[in-house]
Amino acid sequence: MTKNLSACIICGSENRKVLRKKIRYGIRRKVLQCVRCSLIFLEPLAGVSAAYYRSNKYRALHGPDLKKQSSPREIFNTYLPFQKPIIQKLEPILRPNMKVLDVGCSTGHFLEALRGRVKTRVGIELDEAAVKFIKRNLNFKVYSEPIERVNMAEGPFDLITALQVLEHVPDPFGFLSGIAKNLKPNGYLYLELPNVSDVLLTVFKVKEYEDFYYREPHVYYYSKDTLGALLKMAGFEGKPGNVQRYNFLNHLNWILAGKPQSNFNVGNAQPVLVSAGSASAAIKDDFNEFIRGTDSKYKQLVGKYNLGENLTFLGRKKL
Ligand SMILES: [Zn+2]
Repeated sequence: MTKNLSACIICGSENRKVLRKKIRYGIRRKVLQCVRCSLIFLEPLAGVSAAYYRSNKYRALHGPDLKKQSSPREIFNTYLPFQKPIIQKLEPILRPNMKVLDVGCSTGHFLEALRGRVKTRVGIELDEAAVKFIKRNLNFKVYSEPIERVNMAEGPFDLITALQVLEHVPDPFGFLSGIAKNLKPNGYLYLELPNVSDVLLTVFKVKEYEDFYYREPHVYYYSKDTLGALLKMAGFEGKPGNVQRYNFLNHLNWILAGKPQSNFNVGNAQPVLVSAGSASAAIKDDFNEFIRGTDSKYKQLVGKYNLGENLTFLGRKKL
C-alpha cells in the first residue's frame, strides 16, 4: 500500500495551515501545522539526504559556536561536560551489565560520559568526521549506517538513546521500528529533542527567536502531545517530559536583546551575574547566588507548564 505523502503521519489529516514561509538564515521554506493534531513540520517532508550529514555541510552551519565551524574535537569538548544531567536522568535504570546504543551519537560525548557505567557502548553516526574522531580517540564501536539498515553484532540492546535526532528524521515510524528491532523485549528508549512549546516561542513570543528556531535540516517539530501520540503508535510505553537547560540569563538575553548568546557554554552553564574584577569576592558571591537561585526557580516554573526547550521521553518497548 502506498501511503498518501501529503497526509499527516500522526492523524492522517491532509488539512494544514502555513505558520511561516522562512526559516533560519532567511531560507525560504514553509513551516506547516496539521490542523487536526497540531503536528508541525517543514516542507518538503523528504528532509535532507544522508549525504548531507556525511559531508561537513551540517556542522558548517549547526555547531556549538554560531560564529565559526567547530572541529569534532571542539564539539566533543564543548558537549562532554553537559552530559551529566542526562546520565542523572537515566540513573534509576542504569545497570553495570547493560548494552547501550546511542543513535546519532555525534562525536561520542554522551557515550564517553557513560564510560564505566555499563558493559557495552555502541554508537551510530552518519557524519564522517565525527566517526573518524571516535575511531581515533574513543574506545567503543561506531557504525555509520542508518538504524533502519544497520547490522550490529553487539545487539540487541537494553537501552537505546537518541539525543537531538528524532526531529531530523523524515520517517519517524521507520526510525522507531528500527530502534524497536534492536531493543531487547522490555528494553528502554530514551529521547531528547526540541520542544515546540518552548517558553520563548509560546509565552514570550520573541520574534527573533522564532526566526532562528525553525531550521534546516529539521523535519518535524513535536510538542508533548504529538510526541506522545507518535510513540504510542510506534509501540512504546512511557510519558514525555520536558527540561529547560538554557539558563535564565540566556532567556533574558533573547527577550531584551533579541539575539542568542553566540556560544553554547555561556547559555548552558550556571549563570554568572557578576564576573568583573572590581567587586569584592563576597559581593560577587552574593549576587551570583541570587541569579543561580532565580535560575533554578525559573527552570522549575518552565518545567511545570511543559515549556522547557527540550522534550524528553523515557519508555519501554511494549512486549
Ligand atoms: Zn495531524
